[in-house]
Amino acid sequence: MIIGALEAGGTKFVCGIGNEHGEILDRISFPTEKPEPTIAQAIGYFQSKQIEALGVGSFGPLDLDPDSPNYGHVTTTPKPGWQNYDLLGGLTSALNVPAGFDTDVNAAAFGEAKWGAAQGLGSCVYYTVGTGIGAGVYAEGRLVHGLVHPEGGHVPVRRHPEDRFEGTCPYHKDCLEGMAAGPAIAARWNADGGSLPEDHPAWEMEAHYLAEAVTGAILLLSPKKIILGGGVMHQEQLFPLIRRSVARNLNGYVASAALDDLDSYIVPPVLGDNAGLAGSLALGIEAAGGD
Ligand code: ZN
Repeated sequence: MIIGALEAGGTKFVCGIGNEHGEILDRISFPTEKPEPTIAQAIGYFQSKQIEALGVGSFGPLDLDPDSPNYGHVTTTPKPGWQNYDLLGGLTSALNVPAGFDTDVNAAAFGEAKWGAAQGLGSCVYYTVGTGIGAGVYAEGRLVHGLVHPEGGHVPVRRHPEDRFEGTCPYHKDCLEGMAAGPAIAARWNADGGSLPEDHPAWEMEAHYLAEAVTGAILLLSPKKIILGGGVMHQEQLFPLIRRSVARNLNGYVASAALDDLDSYIVPPVLGDNAGLAGSLALGIEAAGGD
């Protein structure tokens, strides 16, 4: 069975095909332009591959309520042309196959729960830390949606005591994304994060903010794994700093053997930068009636 997978990001679209075992057989990517030409390119790719189902993990915010007239739409994004755009409808009306649809980070969480770092555990929280920050939540064996979907990139965080940076989020200024996404690092230090040395104080500050969010997720959701992916997390020196800061935050309060071994609990994605596409494939398999 050939299943299509689309990771619809704010800066690029990744289209691929795979099988029901989660193997990705082919992929292409192209920049995210205005909706119509971007969708047309994706449709052309999937038509040429004769897919039998499709899974879409998209940038958001999204309407994920199947009973809503706007199900499948991108909603309040600041991205020009994409506000209230019917992404899922545009794809399925042309491709005419069953389709699964979720946020890009929920898709990544799903991929890691099915085939990656949280395989067999039944729960995980997946953060992507890059141009923006998002969080996908998988709990009790399913993706969490609720009111709309988790917006874990915008949770409030306690300030680092030495940080005077005001924050970049257009909605909240100093939420997690406003303090810790790639553009916030660049604006605070007046340098691209990738150019800062491993021992630069930027990373201890970055770890502080990510640890704030991770601590909140542990306390609220009690996930069996925390997975941190995205471009900023390629700075591997962040992992020990985040674990140390989380341990300090929790201060021994939550009794769990998993939390005594944070090296195994707070981890990078096993699927690496494929987590989003693999998760979209998993959504497609689910839409096709598989498991
Ligand atoms: Zn925000």
